[in-house]
Amino acid sequence: MKRLLQILSAYFKTKRMAGWTSREKLEVWQEKKLNQQLKYIKKRSPYFQRVLEGVESLSIKDLPKLPVMDKEVMMEHFDELNTVNIHKTEAFEIALKAEDTRDFSPMIGSITVGLSSGTSGNRGLFLVSEEERNMWAGTILAKLLPDGLKSKERIAFFLRANSNLYGSVTSNRISFAFFDLLDDLDVHVKRLNDSNPTILAAPPSMMRMLAEKKAEGILRISPKKIITMAEVLDPLDETMIEAAFGHRVHQVYQCTEGFLAATCSRGTLHLNEDIVIIEKEFLDEDRFSPIITDFTRKTQPIIRYKLNDILTLKKGGCSCGSPMTAIAQIEGRCDDIFYFKNKNDVVVPVFPDFIRRSVITASASIREYKVIQAADRVLEVQLAAEGDGIEEIVRKNLEDFFLRIELEVPDIRFTPYTPNQKLQKLKRIERKVDK
Ligand SMILES: [Zn+2]
Repeated sequence: MKRLLQILSAYFKTKRMAGWTSREKLEVWQEKKLNQQLKYIKKRSPYFQRVLEGVESLSIKDLPKLPVMDKEVMMEHFDELNTVNIHKTEAFEIALKAEDTRDFSPMIGSITVGLSSGTSGNRGLFLVSEEERNMWAGTILAKLLPDGLKSKERIAFFLRANSNLYGSVTSNRISFAFFDLLDDLDVHVKRLNDSNPTILAAPPSMMRMLAEKKAEGILRISPKKIITMAEVLDPLDETMIEAAFGHRVHQVYQCTEGFLAATCSRGTLHLNEDIVIIEKEFLDEDRFSPIITDFTRKTQPIIRYKLNDILTLKKGGCSCGSPMTAIAQIEGRCDDIFYFKNKNDVVVPVFPDFIRRSVITASASIREYKVIQAADRVLEVQLAAEGDGIEEIVRKNLEDFFLRIELEVPDIRFTPYTPNQKLQKLKRIERKVDK
């Protein structure tokens, strides 16, 4: 009962705030929530007791006075940062064991332990309480259900790993089926045909494979909402998914650090500024990396946590009237910004979107591609396309681009397209230069 109340409370709060149109009202509210959060964590987290010493109240404008944290800081101070006295060694042990056995419900008491992806030695640990899980469920339902709580929905959710976080979204009206990305595509298709979901949520790479099955007539479902998450949605995949399912692709931008953005009814991504404050660290005029302050996470406070992602502001905002920042796209990770020299021998960044556009505008018959910066002066291009001369057009587009922005034209090499391994995140633009 308590669980349902917490879910519904978050649901209705999110719905109520979705009607707000004033940015000023939103910021006044954010500031109030921020100070409540700081007061709470100052009492319970030894780490924040130190950080917030002498801080009585803080305006959003003064938020930058607090230190920035990232995964390293979070892991270094894990034990004294969380408010429930959980130790890193214990949390790691239980999370790794759960992963080995693919038993996805590692818990310490009522706290779920999550492991973020990353190379070994660089993985993050996340702690979420039952109340936070329920709030998450209520918020995500409010933002994503196409018809609110009025109609029954069957949600098919594709994940790398199940967790209690997702299990919390199941009731009489909402049924939720978990699909393990490790399973075979044929198994997915059969299960989907049998269960006939009304909402389909998957990473773009999986959604793309399902779209192909749908186009072939083998996958026979007609969900009313298509949602992608967990990978960059490439315009190439977006177009094909939309064509196959006959619906616009909605997006959820979420990571272990928080639920950060979701698309509105018009398909525009808006930052979830009703649960997080997002400072923008600008990379150029429109692009920024988010620094997030979550005022709902009480177990493991996220205060000025810097993410390594590139987000692009949507010019002109969104016509839906929401005061929450509109985003044109999540472009990729900062690690995947390419770097090349200009004629003055200065190294400059090249953002993934420029490379992406140079490739996909070359021909409508490009089915798959990857572009990898393999060395300081080498671009490796992988293409899967029907037709002749496409490589030459791609080469010319890329060369023209480099000449236009006055960069040294790199050595462009074509290699066969290598499909992704299971569980590997699809990255169509990737920098793989030894540092
Ligand atoms: Zn909108």
